[in-house]
Amino acid sequence: MTLFRGSFLDTPDNPFSGGALRADSDHALLVEDGVITARGPYAELRGCHPGEEVLDLTGGLVLPGFVDTHVHFPQARVIGALGLPLLDWLERCALPEEARMAERSYAATVAADFVRGLASAGTTSALVFGAHFSPAVDALFTEAARVGLRVTSGLVVSDRRLRPELHTTPERAHGESLALAARWHGVGRSRYAVIPRFSLSCSDELLAACAAVVDEVPGAMVTSHVNENPREISAVGQLFEGSSYVETYARNGLVGPSTVLAHNVHPTDPELRLLAELDAGVAHCPTSNAALGSGLFPMARHLARGVRVALGSDVGAGTGFSLLKEGLQAYFGQQLLGELGHPLTAAHLLHLATAAGAEALGTADQVGDLSVGKRFDAQWLCPAEGSALEVGLAHAEEPAEALARAFALGTPADVRAVWVDGDLMDPGRADKEPDEPLAAVAG
Ligand SMILES: [Zn+2]
Repeated sequence: MTLFRGSFLDTPDNPFSGGALRADSDHALLVEDGVITARGPYAELRGCHPGEEVLDLTGGLVLPGFVDTHVHFPQARVIGALGLPLLDWLERCALPEEARMAERSYAATVAADFVRGLASAGTTSALVFGAHFSPAVDALFTEAARVGLRVTSGLVVSDRRLRPELHTTPERAHGESLALAARWHGVGRSRYAVIPRFSLSCSDELLAACAAVVDEVPGAMVTSHVNENPREISAVGQLFEGSSYVETYARNGLVGPSTVLAHNVHPTDPELRLLAELDAGVAHCPTSNAALGSGLFPMARHLARGVRVALGSDVGAGTGFSLLKEGLQAYFGQQLLGELGHPLTAAHLLHLATAAGAEALGTADQVGDLSVGKRFDAQWLCPAEGSALEVGLAHAEEPAEALARAFALGTPADVRAVWVDGDLMDPGRADKEPDEPLAAVAG
């Protein structure tokens, strides 16, 4: 057992339905076999457990681990290609790199960069777009398991309009998906996701093959893209004879409570109704939407219809792995929408980056906040002395102000340590970070 001591911030009560930020200074969490078994003021809990090891995380903020609901593993090395709209960016930047995933050894080195990028940014759970090649997806699962990341991922499938080497057939997609699921679904912290790339690159036959995999793999998730860019949306409408973008998935049985669709920047009202009815989640990816000029996310319309929303980094169109940055950009976007936007507080941002993500991934009973009974998936934000964030935190008058400063100024460099199930994640930063800050403090 370990007593984690620090200032803990989380959102067990949804701020979008009236809940407040929970902020407890000089508190402690008792963690036993990865589960939080007690929580209270440090002095009190220490008194009850005088013999337990103490990990002192005072001097920063302890937050739940982030849950990234949309991120592409093969794009870890192409972040930052600015200045193109979606379809041109795919053709010129993303797809050439995705084709390189055919080589397993290359994919394995990218998987290491990718998992390290997520873990270093405080992300402990992720719904990941895999690659178009089975061995590359296998490499991703292998690396995530090595580092300890909770990963839900799978084979990305397409059978038209990308590049020939990225195309498959419904039969091959079905067989390869089942083989990967048999190897990884429910093994350790890994789960399988069925991933048609987007309707633009998937025939009805391929989408039906995806649905068959969902039927054959109980507990599998489904993820794809929707309504990102007007040119893309109109091309999908033409291919599917006027079906709405959401319908192209729904009519093939791919939209339900275990579905997360990324973007949805330009939904129609009937599409929002359908998503709410089928209880699907939407991954809002604000830096990607801004970088590709896709548009400003209509969060208020989603919330008004009861559509669940969480955050995704959408690396590599997104501009980095940090959900602090995505939270800030989400806030900017809603501000820029004026009266049509949903005003966001720091508590909203934390909720979107943690508990809302856990809900989207169907793991809210285990992670997303730091309540008794939850797994200890957490991150310690502890900025370097003299940094703008350190100054900001030192002079914050209340926890919500400190949290807002963390979103405004925080970067992966401020994430000192990350735990999953109470175990320290080690994404290979050991040579860069001294061990002393994490040394257990006796007494
Ligand atoms: Zn994406």
